[in-house]
Amino acid sequence: MLEIYKKLPRTNCGKCGVPTCMAFAVKVQNAQQKMSDCPYVSEENRELPSRQTSVTMEDNYERVSNELELEAKQTDFRDAACAIGGLFEEANGSGIIKLKMMNKPYEMRKEGLFGDGTYCHDSWSKIMLYDYIRRKGNRPLTGDWVTLGYFPNTASHVKAFQRSAEEKVAVAFNKNREGLKDRCRELGGVEDSGKMKADYICRFDLLPRVPLYLCFWDADEEFPASCKLFLDSSAEAYIDIEYLAYLVERFVEEFTMGKERRAKEK
Ligand code: SF4
Repeated sequence: MLEIYKKLPRTNCGKCGVPTCMAFAVKVQNAQQKMSDCPYVSEENRELPSRQTSVTMEDNYERVSNELELEAKQTDFRDAACAIGGLFEEANGSGIIKLKMMNKPYEMRKEGLFGDGTYCHDSWSKIMLYDYIRRKGNRPLTGDWVTLGYFPNTASHVKAFQRSAEEKVAVAFNKNREGLKDRCRELGGVEDSGKMKADYICRFDLLPRVPLYLCFWDADEEFPASCKLFLDSSAEAYIDIEYLAYLVERFVEEFTMGKERRAKEK
């Protein structure tokens, strides 16, 4: 990690999305970011020591998901299902937790995570669900709507979150409230009267006990449309906040995906 750190400008400017060069070096070492995410690293310094280049982001996801899988499998499924809003069922003498993530059904079995009846090979989905299951959050919703920045250690995510999530929705549905409503319905959203004075509010259950509130303000003559995404302040009891930020970003990616790409991916 120090080898990587030495190649950085060490000005702690935060342009890479993390607050310090040291934190950035750790992320590069863990394959969570690339050297090129720092705009000030010279071409020759982008080259990493050879043992680092063999670790890819996918390797890293797989390693984390394998670690979390072990913990999730050891969880008491009956207790966990009750705590996280899943459905517990017995099948062939062993327990199963049925639950949805972003409106897609999954099953946690003794063998691991299953989607559509087959073992799930998507490390990203496994990380989210294994973390959710092993934590057994069990905290009632507070009803307090908060933005991502409310949670500790999220300062480095907030700007990126505004750009990659909230602004993305606003741009995709600028002057198209009906299109927005259709997309909300397609993804299992439920219209909500909510706590905000917005032109349209919709609630999505990213996970059974992790709601996301999408608030949308229409464009007017002066300003384009805008969007804010809120979470319940109990969310950190249920899932690691860093994972939660990725979950919301993945949701927005799917939400704003054009019809053609959706048809292709089916
Ligand atoms: S952008 Fe580069 S110089 Fe700025 S904090 Fe990140 S690593 Fe350091």
